[in-house]
Amino acid sequence: MTHSRSTQDDPHFIGAVGDRAHGRVVAITGGVHGNEPAGVAAIERVLDAVDHHRTPIRGRLVGLRGNPVALARGERFIDSDLNRIWTEERLARAVEDPSTAGADMRAALALIDRFRHEFSAVGPHPDAMLIDLHSTSGDGPPFLVMADECRGFGAALDVGVPIVFGLEHQFGGSMLDWLRSRGYWGLAFEGGRNDDPQTVTCHEAIVWRTLLVTGIVDPDDLSPALAMHVRTAIETLAAQGEGLPRYLDVFYRHRIDATDGFRMEHGFRSFQAVDEGQLLAHDRNGPVVAHEPGVLLMPLYQRQGNDGFFLGRRLGAAPTRAG
Ligand SMILES: [Zn+2]
Repeated sequence: MTHSRSTQDDPHFIGAVGDRAHGRVVAITGGVHGNEPAGVAAIERVLDAVDHHRTPIRGRLVGLRGNPVALARGERFIDSDLNRIWTEERLARAVEDPSTAGADMRAALALIDRFRHEFSAVGPHPDAMLIDLHSTSGDGPPFLVMADECRGFGAALDVGVPIVFGLEHQFGGSMLDWLRSRGYWGLAFEGGRNDDPQTVTCHEAIVWRTLLVTGIVDPDDLSPALAMHVRTAIETLAAQGEGLPRYLDVFYRHRIDATDGFRMEHGFRSFQAVDEGQLLAHDRNGPVVAHEPGVLLMPLYQRQGNDGFFLGRRLGAAPTRAG
């Protein structure tokens, strides 16, 4: 089997294998943030391995670049964060008057066309789903981000790294919000630091694990060499979760904009416990402290972005409340 390769007329398309008529469709996006190329590298590796080992595919796997223009520049985004602009209002305005759409919004519209094309022939979840691969500017272990309704799938994935719930209540306009509003499943995966080679391995692991759990790849169909490679990648990922909370519920987002002069204090990591009143950052108004105790998530150590940090609390089990 040879996967269809990217062509110049769609810079978003990395490649695809399989067909929609015979099983589920999994779309994988990498580089929704242009300074996070590891996801794209992992998608290319998985597609190449399927080709090389002639692995049978029962369904369809589609690899997509999120923001090709930002990826080419190595910047998180061009005009506005691609993962915050998927609101009905902004999308409608861009469709009505395309001259108002910047490079990031044009990427969102192109991805919508692609999702409609790929997902329309199959039903909503769990037959059509998206895995969105990200990485972080600061140090920190890999983790999964999903909405409550995906908790069953999260348990099935069981990769041993934390699963973060509740982020969808902290901001709107993410790509996953849009997909959820259309009845599709989506989850995000943070694979580690942007420039750490292990991040690509962790991204690869989550893609393989998804293909195995959804039945798109039957484990018995993996060649011995590929089975070994997949097992090693999944073990590498699982080892990153040791000693970390299994489930985290996010209750606070420290929202910032470019005029805030926000600077995170050095040395913080995701999943680090912080105390009430602990100094976390400075901005133009002075010190920024934790207003209650919690677990720190995604401290900002890059120039661009609207999230200074998040705080969550440990859960004993996946939440059971409705979204
Ligand atoms: Zn990202």
